[in-house]
Amino acid sequence: MKTDKRYLWYGKFDPLEETNCLIFPCNDCGILPIISRTPKEDRWQLSCPKCGKKAEGSRRKWQAVINWNKAQVSRIPYWREFPLFDLDRFQTPEDARVYLKKVRQVLENRVKACEQKLVAYRKGVLPRPPGRKYQERLRAFLQWCILAQGVCKYWMLREAKIEKDSHFPSLIYGRASSKMVRFAGWL
Ligand SMILES: [Zn+2]
Repeated sequence: MKTDKRYLWYGKFDPLEETNCLIFPCNDCGILPIISRTPKEDRWQLSCPKCGKKAEGSRRKWQAVINWNKAQVSRIPYWREFPLFDLDRFQTPEDARVYLKKVRQVLENRVKACEQKLVAYRKGVLPRPPGRKYQERLRAFLQWCILAQGVCKYWMLREAKIEKDSHFPSLIYGRASSKMVRFAGWL
C-alpha cells in the first residue's frame, strides 16, 4: 500500500545538517546552552553556561541536541513555532498531534523497512544496502517528531488549564516562561 504523501514531507529541513534550528533554553536559567565537541571521544554535548547542567552526549550532533531539548521540561517553545512539519497550518495543538501521530507511524515503518533491507543485503538477497545518510535522516526525523508530539501535548494541557482558570491574564498565553503547568511526559 502506498503511503499518503502528506506524511512523507516534513518541511524544508535536513535534520543532519540543521541541528541548531531549535534549541530549548535551560530549564533552570532560561538561557541557551553551549554546544561542544570532545574530539578525542568524538562526542557532542550541550551544557548550560550558567548552572553547568549537561545533557547526555552523542556522537551525532543532532542526537545531542534532541537529548538536551528532551531534558528541558518547563520552557517549551510555542507549538506553532516548531520549525518542522509545518505545524503552523493547524488550528490547535490537538489537530497537530493527530497529524504527528500519523507521521510518527510512517517514520517508524520506514525505519523498520530500512532495517529489513539491511538484513536482506547482509544475506545477499539485495545488491545494495539502504544509504547510511538516508537511514540516519529517517531516525533523526523520527526523534524530532517525538519531540514535536511532546511540545504539542505540553501546550494542549497548558491551554486547557488557561481556559479553565480564566482569571489568569491573557498575557501568559503563548509564553513558555511560567511553570504554571508542569510538563507531563513526552507521549
Ligand atoms: Zn542552567
